[in-house]
Amino acid sequence: MNTAATRERDLSGITPSGHLTLGNHLGALRRFVQRQGRREGFYFIADLHALTMPHDPVRHRLLTLSTGALFLAAGLGADRSVVFVQSHVPAHVEMAYLLECTAHVGELSRMIQFKEKGGRPGTRASLFTYPCLMAADILLYEARSVPVGGDQSQHVELTRDLAERFNVTYGETFVVPELVPAALAARVADLQHPARKMSKSAPDDAAGVLRMLDSPDVIASKIRRAVTDSDGEVRYDPETKPGVSNLLEILAALVGSDPAGLAPRFRGYGPLKASVTDAVIAELGPIRRRHDELMADPAELVRLLDAGAERAHSAAATVLTRARKAMGVA
Ligand code: AMP
Repeated sequence: MNTAATRERDLSGITPSGHLTLGNHLGALRRFVQRQGRREGFYFIADLHALTMPHDPVRHRLLTLSTGALFLAAGLGADRSVVFVQSHVPAHVEMAYLLECTAHVGELSRMIQFKEKGGRPGTRASLFTYPCLMAADILLYEARSVPVGGDQSQHVELTRDLAERFNVTYGETFVVPELVPAALAARVADLQHPARKMSKSAPDDAAGVLRMLDSPDVIASKIRRAVTDSDGEVRYDPETKPGVSNLLEILAALVGSDPAGLAPRFRGYGPLKASVTDAVIAELGPIRRRHDELMADPAELVRLLDAGAERAHSAAATVLTRARKAMGVA
């Protein structure tokens, strides 16, 4: 197929279901920025995905804008990549429906989110169907590469299955994408519960979750209280020393080193935590300041996001038309 994918496109998004974390930055946002320039990139704020769980519309709108501001503040956008809000490009929803008509109930029932949360009273139907929306997000842009954290592999696997099934049933329509895992910090752990991933859906005041907009004092205090262990030796061993290894991974990702190589430099947990604190503050400080400037001028922020949506709309329209025709939707 001679399509835009020959230009090597990236596609990825972040759901504004909470204030973004250091995990979102290291596993996703910072990688988007690093990949810019080498390929065409489409990066979006996945506002529709945040509606699968109970939500407050006012907070949702604010988080959507704030996440957009963080994307731009981190260095995405302008003439380097396309940044947009998912719901501003209606093709995502239409393509999701075409893919729902391709997906099987059995495979959607096996998705982890649905298995974990689907049994609760009042579960939204969208918690069952959202993987089709996610597949639509990816397939609309003919992206070959999907740079996401390791927690997203099941979604990308399903997208590949749906694309291949569609292509076999209705004729070559979609580029089959691949997940591009992070080399480091693919799964930043919660500082208080190192067995869990650092998640933005945790309560706003969770001590183990470093938020991208935390002040330097809050960052320092959360890292100071990070759970370690009692043997006192700084060693990279994720199995037996998950807390210390998580701190080493964060530091390694930030300073561009490897966690095992960094360990011998530290004589105790205090100096390690101090170095992690300095590196996190140095990384997030400038982004937070730029975010605050953008949020202070909402009209300009909305104008930038609208311009991104327009560019995304024209890219998505081509593939949507092709998929509609293939399925016989005139
Ligand atoms: P989500 O927070 O589920 O909207 O995910 C947005 C992006 O951030 C995805 O690429 C995730 O894989 C990535 N991500 C989320 N949490 C983490 C984490 N703790 N460590 C590394 N990557 C993460």
